[in-house]
This record gives sequence, structure tokens and C-alpha cells, in this order.
Amino acid sequence: MIIGSHVSMSAPDYLLGAVKEALSYHANALMVYTGPPQNTRRKDIKDLKVEEAHTLMKENGIDLRSMIVHAPYIINLANCAKKETFELATEFLSKEIERVNAIGASILVLHPGSHVGAGEQAGLDKIVSGLDIAMQNMGNVELAIETMSGKGSELGYQFEQIRYLIDHAQYADHIKVCLDTCHIHDAGYDLQAFDEVLAHFDDVIGLDRLVCLHINDSKNVRGAKKDRHANIGFGEIGFQTLANVVHHPKLANVVKILETPYVEDHPPYQFEIEMLRNHQFDERVMDKIKGDTK
Ligand code: FE
Ligand code: FE
Ligand code: ZN
Repeated sequence: MIIGSHVSMSAPDYLLGAVKEALSYHANALMVYTGPPQNTRRKDIKDLKVEEAHTLMKENGIDLRSMIVHAPYIINLANCAKKETFELATEFLSKEIERVNAIGASILVLHPGSHVGAGEQAGLDKIVSGLDIAMQNMGNVELAIETMSGKGSELGYQFEQIRYLIDHAQYADHIKVCLDTCHIHDAGYDLQAFDEVLAHFDDVIGLDRLVCLHINDSKNVRGAKKDRHANIGFGEIGFQTLANVVHHPKLANVVKILETPYVEDHPPYQFEIEMLRNHQFDERVMDKIKGDTK
């Protein structure tokens, strides 16, 4: 199983530090933001310790393809209202694709965007035009559009909407998909019947496009369109359902990334990864995360 979590890429070790953090969770995959997710200020690639990070990954048997990059969530390609916002988004996204190539990763996860009142169809068409501008130099990178919860005016909460982007974008060969369990649950998909969800995904998008899974429980009931992540086994989706997703035979080669919340300032990932790998819920997991075990 290829499984890890989002990790931080911060001073002084940047990408090397991100890999070290992933190893501390016994992970064999990781997801990073190239800088703060809420803004577009970015460090020079030469300061990110890319070589050292690759060496450490190699020494520990982590494949470069298991290092995922998440684009900052301020990128909104669906914004039809503000011309500057759209231009900023396309410009930043194309630079981000360059950075992802430079750090040797091959999957960039992107939230498709929110139409902020323009309507779903207008928003989807705006995303297509944004992708056509930003995706001109993909190199070795594939863009993984994330399935969203439908919170606010978010697009991408139905597989059909992502299919629309693939059908209309010029560089569709480089468009893949990241499926987030919390998001699709909040969007109304029934993860208890995961085989049916996956069959539907295959019909509409095609399983060959699925390159990343975000494994999160949800604080809200199915269809709530809220997007609030819960720790594995502590939300409305539940441990067994999530364990079935990560152990699904058709998804063995898909990279799995946890984005669950910290527990009282403690990262939960080492313990959540362990439980998922073992397919066994641990009653004492919260104590272990908090370091309260004797
Ligand atoms: Fe995301
Ligand atoms: Fe996600
Ligand atoms: Zn989310």
C-alpha cells in the first residue's frame, strides 16, 4: 500500500524536511504544498534541498511518483467575475507546474474552483479556458483535479463535472483525478456502497485517470456539502468503510494521502496509517496520538 499524509515543507530543510516528516510517520508517500497554501509567495527551487530529498527517498524506497504536490487553494480558475483573479490563477498555475517539474514530482492536485455566483456552466467553461492557458508546458507533470464537496459554489462535486472538463480541455491527456473520500461523502456519494461509486467513476471518468486518493473521515453527514475533515474512524464515514477504500484491489497502485486534522497539536498520521495498513481500528488511537499512553 502506498500511503502517507500531507507534510509541511518549511525552513530550513524544505523538501528534505518534508521527506523526513513522512518517514517519521512510517509513510511511503507524501503530499506537499510548494509554499503556504493560502498565498502565492514561493521560495527559489535551489533553496528547497531537492537533491537531498530525492536521495533520502531513494534510500527509503519511496518512489518519486509517490510524492504529490497540492496547488494552493487560492487558485480559482472558475472565477468569471474578476479578470485579475483569473489571470493571477492561470499565471500562478503555470509557474506551479514548472516548480513541480523542477522538484521531480509528477502529480499536481488542483481544486477546480468556485463559480462565485456566475453559475455552474459558466464556471466550468471558465475552468476549461484557464486549464488551456496554464497547461501549455506540462513536462512530466499530470494535473489531478480533486473531487469537491460542493461547499459554497464549488465545482467538481459530481464526476460528470470533471468529465466535462476532460471533454473540453485542450490538454486532456494530462488531466487526472484525485478522489477525496470526505469530499465525495459530503457531496452525497455513498461510500458504504464503494464498489458502486467506483463503477460509476469508471463509467463517467475512467479508473485509468484516478491517480490519487485523499483519505479523510467527515465531520458531517452524507450530502452535507460542508467539507470538514475528521480523524479516521471518528467521523460519519467510519473506519471500516475507509479501510475498505484503501484496501480495494482496484486501487492498489493509487497513492493514498491523509489530510486529517491534528489532535491537540499532535499529528495523527503515524497511527492512522498503521491502523489503515492493519485494517484494524485501535481503541486507544487518540491516546497514542496525544502521547498519553503508558
Ligand atoms: Fe484538496
Ligand atoms: Fe483533499
Ligand atoms: Zn477538504
